[in-house]
Amino acid sequence: MKLVFIGKQGSGKGTQARIISQKLNICHVSTGDLLRHVKGKLGKKIHSLIDEGNMVGDELMLEVLMERLRKEDCKNGFILDGYPRDLVQARILEKEIGVDLIVEIYIEDKIVVDRLTNRLNCGNCGAIFNLKTNPPHKEGICDKCSDELFVREDDNEAAILQRLKLYKKKTQPVINFFGKKVIRVDGSKNVEEVAKEIEEKLKL
Ligand code: AMP
Repeated sequence: MKLVFIGKQGSGKGTQARIISQKLNICHVSTGDLLRHVKGKLGKKIHSLIDEGNMVGDELMLEVLMERLRKEDCKNGFILDGYPRDLVQARILEKEIGVDLIVEIYIEDKIVVDRLTNRLNCGNCGAIFNLKTNPPHKEGICDKCSDELFVREDDNEAAILQRLKLYKKKTQPVINFFGKKVIRVDGSKNVEEVAKEIEEKLKL
């Protein structure tokens, strides 16, 4: 199954993509995480773009993405999280890779800032925590793999507002582009409830 999870930053798409990908035994590909793991000179260039809340170029993005999708764990399918981010990428995706369904996880803007400024990430296993609603048991340490947690450089208010602006201008039109392939779920509920709604709508 080839899926795309789409939603504003902080909509929970990463968390949900992880849950559903495990259930379906397909790979979860977060393009943000992929890019953050690029090393060397190219990595430096990419990281400074990300830290300012800007996008990485389409060609480079596709190259990094295709390399990931060729790996063994993607042979049954994938969930893309963070791609496509605009109409150009949506067309590239349909042409180069193809996709079955788009899951849109919808939340209001005001929830976005509150969620992201409290978010903690594990760089090792990708687990996500929230200082208010889902804090780690031990401060700064991942419950799942015991690695150190970090706050993303772009989870500050200025970068969040910039990313929201970009989302509305660039990503929202992608949802219209995919039309009938889109399934919409309410992202304001808790993690289990959102997962349940996705499973029901995907008929899992
Ligand atoms: P995310 O973790 O999805 O919020 O992505 C973090 C950052 O990675 C974004 O703000 C962009 O700078 C970059 N990025 C992630 N996905 C893409 C993409 N599909 N195209 C271009 N840049 C991306």
